Amino acid sequence: MSSSYNSICSISETFVSLQGEGAWAGWPCFFIRLSGCNLRCSYCDTRYAYTELEKRDIPGLIAEWRQSRIRLVEVTGGEPLLQPATPILLKALVNEGARVLLETNGSLPVSSVPREVIKILDRKTPGSGMEKFWLEDNLCWLNQGDQLKFVITDREDYRWAREEVLRLCLWHYTEVLFSPAWNSLAPSDLASWIVADRLPVRFQVQLHKVLWGDKRGI
Ligand code: SF4
Repeated sequence: MSSSYNSICSISETFVSLQGEGAWAGWPCFFIRLSGCNLRCSYCDTRYAYTELEKRDIPGLIAEWRQSRIRLVEVTGGEPLLQPATPILLKALVNEGARVLLETNGSLPVSSVPREVIKILDRKTPGSGMEKFWLEDNLCWLNQGDQLKFVITDREDYRWAREEVLRLCLWHYTEVLFSPAWNSLAPSDLASWIVADRLPVRFQVQLHKVLWGDKRGI
């Protein structure tokens, strides 16, 4: 076992829930939420993760994941790639047999993410206030099974996102997800716009919020 395996991660929380988004929506999932974020999105629902933290080593996290008896694990934040130990944690989970998802805000390079990890890459829109922090080079690191996610706040945001999809032919890279911002845009409006435009993107809602509302640890 390498010494890096004992690296320390700053954790906001761990919990078990249903995966709420993307291709794995509906599956039971063990979540590891790392603390700290370099962005400040207008609709952020995990502000507590900016500062709250507990220091945990990777073997301890692996042991907790094993006790959950769930193969699917999502590493999220905050922004997980702010921490140098994150690629080590991801690889350790893969080596232990987990099916690993990584949710990242698109502002930091994903080149250090192990190939076996499924990346869910956010493309921040103007409605988030953080669209300028996008690293377009990250598109080159997307593999089959990865996902590119837009959270849409209103009609203007939708128009902007639609132009991004068409400008970059994003469907050639990976599956593109459009999701309405919770309590900001009616899901039916977004669905209607996608259908009217025949846009090659996949509509989704945040399943965990539909089921349980905007609560922590779900
Ligand atoms: S990237 Fe995620 S955690 Fe960071 S501010 Fe935006 S929504 Fe919140």
